[in-house]
Amino acid sequence: MSEGKKSLNFIEQIIEEDLKGSYTKQELKFRFPPEPNGYLHIGHASSICLNFGLGERYNAPVNLRFDDTNPIKEEQEYVDAIKEDVVWLGFKWDKECYASDYFQQLYDWAVALIKSGNAYVDSQTSAEIAEQKGTPTIDGKESPYRDRSIQENLELFDKMKNGETPEGAHVLRAKIDMTSSNMIMRDPVMYRSLHKKHHRTGDAWKIYPMYDWAHGESDFIESISHSFCTLEFLPHRELYNWFIGKVSDNEDFIPKQREFARRNLSHTVVSKRKLLQLVENKVVNSWDDPRMPTISGFRRRGYTPTSIRKFADTIGIAKRENIIDVSLLEFCIREDLNKIAPRVMGVLDPVKLVITNYEEEEEWLETENNPEDENAGTREIPFSKELYIEREDFKEEANRKFFRLSLGKEVRLKSAYIIKGESVVKDDAGNILEIHCTYDPKSKSGSGTEESLRKVKGTLHWVSIAHAIKGEIRLYDRLFTVAAPDADKEKDFIEFINPDSLQVITGYVEPSLKEASVADKFQFQRIGYFCIDKESTKENLIFNRTVTLRDSWEKLS
Ligand code: ATP
Ligand code: MG
Repeated sequence: MSEGKKSLNFIEQIIEEDLKGSYTKQELKFRFPPEPNGYLHIGHASSICLNFGLGERYNAPVNLRFDDTNPIKEEQEYVDAIKEDVVWLGFKWDKECYASDYFQQLYDWAVALIKSGNAYVDSQTSAEIAEQKGTPTIDGKESPYRDRSIQENLELFDKMKNGETPEGAHVLRAKIDMTSSNMIMRDPVMYRSLHKKHHRTGDAWKIYPMYDWAHGESDFIESISHSFCTLEFLPHRELYNWFIGKVSDNEDFIPKQREFARRNLSHTVVSKRKLLQLVENKVVNSWDDPRMPTISGFRRRGYTPTSIRKFADTIGIAKRENIIDVSLLEFCIREDLNKIAPRVMGVLDPVKLVITNYEEEEEWLETENNPEDENAGTREIPFSKELYIEREDFKEEANRKFFRLSLGKEVRLKSAYIIKGESVVKDDAGNILEIHCTYDPKSKSGSGTEESLRKVKGTLHWVSIAHAIKGEIRLYDRLFTVAAPDADKEKDFIEFINPDSLQVITGYVEPSLKEASVADKFQFQRIGYFCIDKESTKENLIFNRTVTLRDSWEKLS
């Protein structure tokens, strides 16, 4: 289906309906509102692609808004990482906003709410408040402080603000309805005292607004037309509207909250809180560990922005939660890398191959950089008497289905010659130390001779031992052994960690890779896609396996 003809998702339908009604195209404005309490993950990528995608589709501004209302968990490091990820995905925000920039306005509005009898200071403990909340079928109880005088409320709130009351002594609550069938409407907390330094406002504030109070008001301040969030906020919509109703008047432009389903990826967890646990417990090395489902982890692993946007686009937006199999994401990166990644040769589990009748010292053979890209050109690779091939590409004796090298059989060495297995040299334990073969000098690839056109069943990759460079190869696998590690609430998701999610080996790669730089991506022919890790140096090349050439899990599960 072509881009233009794609059917509208339900979010786009909402907007189209609004455009037929009271909204103009010029009024459309969106935002992506991360809390800077961790690195963005693949679920956020869906939200980013949704909001910025709408911005592109309707030519409307999209703000990047940091929902920075909880100084206990938030840090500048996270703000910087989030910005880097959004830029990397290829999106441009209109304004960079912070909920903390609105602290004064939110405070002034809160004072106004106290004055109009819509908010009060509650001096109970949080346990007492929770106890009075009731249940969906049992009404809540009103706080004994609910009818404090406006004067007393104002004085106490002022003291809270100045840090003159201890943390936990008071909260500011909206005075709504303790019998509402929507639990969220039962006098929600608007402010709590926190005597903590904020990464942007420093020590200026001793009280911090709660999500519900800050979020909708921030949307209102920024004139956001549609505020999209995940489904757990559906019951908050009523409160969102109530708060905005209290601070706006009839002429004001009113934002609209709508919800979509959270995206989950199989064999991992997408929650900043849980990902933080993995980092803190050193299950992984960092937020951008290539096994992490963070955007920075995928970037370091060798994923491209194109592949992640393609993935988000393919899964689209849903009304119900489900788990997307990671093999779809792997499909997206294979598809992209197949087009753009130069082909190289690298041997990960080497066995020595000696071409007994090869008399030259060395020769340089021409090979294609990428058959999928006609502009990719060619390069020369060195060939010599002693090569490494992959251990699994040889069997002394093999059945007819084995199209690789065996004694008495012929295979082609990629971009080189046809060889024939002759004999093996073993150690006392019977391990193969060397494979001896002969080559057909007239069979050189691309030479056009009759011998070169001869069909052989298999083609092997190889490197010349004298020219190859050693590399550290990091082979990544799924971080969890089960599809939904956090599905069972009785169990700790950490129990399902795959102990073999990282294997480090030494491999041998062709010398052209000497000049490779961090993040460069390659296809190791017949093996998979790899990229240069950020810890790589000229002396110690480090490759991350992005993904294997084929899905090896499909047949296992
Ligand atoms: P987490 O639980 O991982 O911290 P969050 O929802 O608290 O996630 P925020 O930083 O508040 O994270 O989210 C920013 C935006 O991204 C919100 O609009 C949120 O709804 C959306 N979002 C977060 N996780 C997902 C997900 N898994 N799928 C789709 N959107 C998501
Ligand atoms: Mg959160």
